[in-house]
Amino acid sequence: MRILVSNDDGYFAPGIAALAEALQEVGDVTVVAPERDRSGASNSLTLDRPLSLRRAANGFHFVNGTPTDCVHLAVTGMLDHLPDMVVSGVNHGANMGDDTIYSGTVAAATEGFLLGVPAIAVSLVSKAATDFSAAARVARDLAERFTRVPFQHPVLLNVNVPDRPYEELRGIRVTRLGKRHKAEPVIRSTTPRNETVYWVGAAGQAADAGEGTDFQAVAEGFVSVTPLQIDLTHNGLISSVAEWVGR
Ligand code: MN
Repeated sequence: MRILVSNDDGYFAPGIAALAEALQEVGDVTVVAPERDRSGASNSLTLDRPLSLRRAANGFHFVNGTPTDCVHLAVTGMLDHLPDMVVSGVNHGANMGDDTIYSGTVAAATEGFLLGVPAIAVSLVSKAATDFSAAARVARDLAERFTRVPFQHPVLLNVNVPDRPYEELRGIRVTRLGKRHKAEPVIRSTTPRNETVYWVGAAGQAADAGEGTDFQAVAEGFVSVTPLQIDLTHNGLISSVAEWVGR
């Protein structure tokens, strides 16, 4: 099995090293990741300049672009064969609920999925975490299951792993995305040159962390696995919007 690994934290991030190492037990791993931290890059493609692909001493490849660029470039130009799977992560921090819209980790997996490759995004639910081995092992388990029991549909899975030792994970729950409250306001600051600048504030706290959500599963010590889809159409509003625009 050929596995393409990417992330949004950058090719030097400890989470991607742990992931690549764990997945080597399941297949041939190629790493193509951004040259710097592109967290929050979402699904952006770089269209205003060319991209360069370089190889680090440890064999990882890095690109001066976004997570989406990395997977797009690898799948459509660099690799000789279509990978059997794209795995993104392990992200340093949760990607639950509305985070999935902004996440570069989810975006890298999404790009694989859009190019016809089954894909998994893996995030470790802690900004303070330093040990990515449990989350990497969860990714390996899922990839290994995929080789044993191929899933019959194109699949994009968003996986969030609580920050605890592998043996203390309570199991896997298949979940729906929860919802966050709106984000904290921007934080105003002044540079040494007396210019006013703004930092984007923190994501909101969980607003819907109810039964069946990713937030709830993780809070209870379970690995959360959410199957995602890309079609944003709100089918339930089509007829009422049609009526509204017709007035
Ligand atoms: Mn990140």
